[in-house]
Amino acid sequence: MLVVMRHGASEDNIQKVIDFIKSKGYDAHVSRGDLHTVIGAVGGKVMDPRDLELLDGVKEVIKITSSYKLVSRIFKNEDTIIEVNGEKFGGDYVGMIAGPCTIENEDQINECARLMAQSGVKIIRGGAFKPRTSPYAFQGLGEEGLKLIRNAADKYNLAVTSEVMEINQIPLFLDYVDILQVGARNMQNFNLLKELSKVNKPVILKRGLSATIEEWLMAAEYILSGGNREVILCERGIRTFEVATRNTLDLCAIPVVKKLSHLPIIIDPSHGTGLRDKVAPMSMASIAAGCDGLMIEVHNKPECALCDGAQSLYPEQFDELYAKLKKIAPVVDKIMG
Ligand code: PEP
Ligand code: MN
Repeated sequence: MLVVMRHGASEDNIQKVIDFIKSKGYDAHVSRGDLHTVIGAVGGKVMDPRDLELLDGVKEVIKITSSYKLVSRIFKNEDTIIEVNGEKFGGDYVGMIAGPCTIENEDQINECARLMAQSGVKIIRGGAFKPRTSPYAFQGLGEEGLKLIRNAADKYNLAVTSEVMEINQIPLFLDYVDILQVGARNMQNFNLLKELSKVNKPVILKRGLSATIEEWLMAAEYILSGGNREVILCERGIRTFEVATRNTLDLCAIPVVKKLSHLPIIIDPSHGTGLRDKVAPMSMASIAAGCDGLMIEVHNKPECALCDGAQSLYPEQFDELYAKLKKIAPVVDKIMG
């Protein structure tokens, strides 16, 4: 952290800042310029910049290091590649996850699994515990849903990802799924993140509805810091003033995250747009921008879906899109499928 003193700050002001910095376990490096004295705080663990800003004579405090460490490229320069059921995310690879928003019944999930396998998908998605805005909306089949998706996936050699909402559901998820998903609404459920840090299965961490990239990376840091190094970041759109789409899909997060972190970043264009006809263009744009994977909602009968039918692709639309994506990936030096 750099503390810039006001022009004319007294020696006493400067000394008090130095003393404060040292009291927090940092070294203080003073550099005296014609106009301003700048004090660099080096080492130490955590210091709230606002405590420094409030000291007399301080003009501004500039943070020069990020608060996340394990997720950062400074800590690990090589891309993290996560492999599940032969599908890879990260590095040169673009992975695919597809399936319905939610598990509705045995026939529906079996048919979705059959279709996904036929399309060449290796990981199926499907929620059993659904974080619905309305308490009256379909809440998911719970444990029964996890059993149904596992059975369906096993029939077609698919891996499974599903959203875990609470700490006490984790043991159940470990029995049935291959990747645990943390939904946007739980991105800062720090107790859940801490428990997931002890799990030895990958975690998809969706970006919160109004989370900054830094907050998202800090959330990932919780999972890595407890020992689980397998985190896939998922951009799923954020809240903005725009109402033409369900969310605003922040594709700029791809190059930003890739510069800051070694973790793979995938895109969910289904929740990101909320509209079926916007899913293909945004999927193609995501690959062009360098993402490491996609998670797309596909339903055997979207018009009958209990949840998110309007943003779910018809199986034929998905096949057409997947074929195009496989052509785009090599243009940006990536391997898909
Ligand atoms: C989902 O993927 O089913 C979901 C609920 O997504 P999000 O948490 O991004 O809203
Ligand atoms: Mn959904």
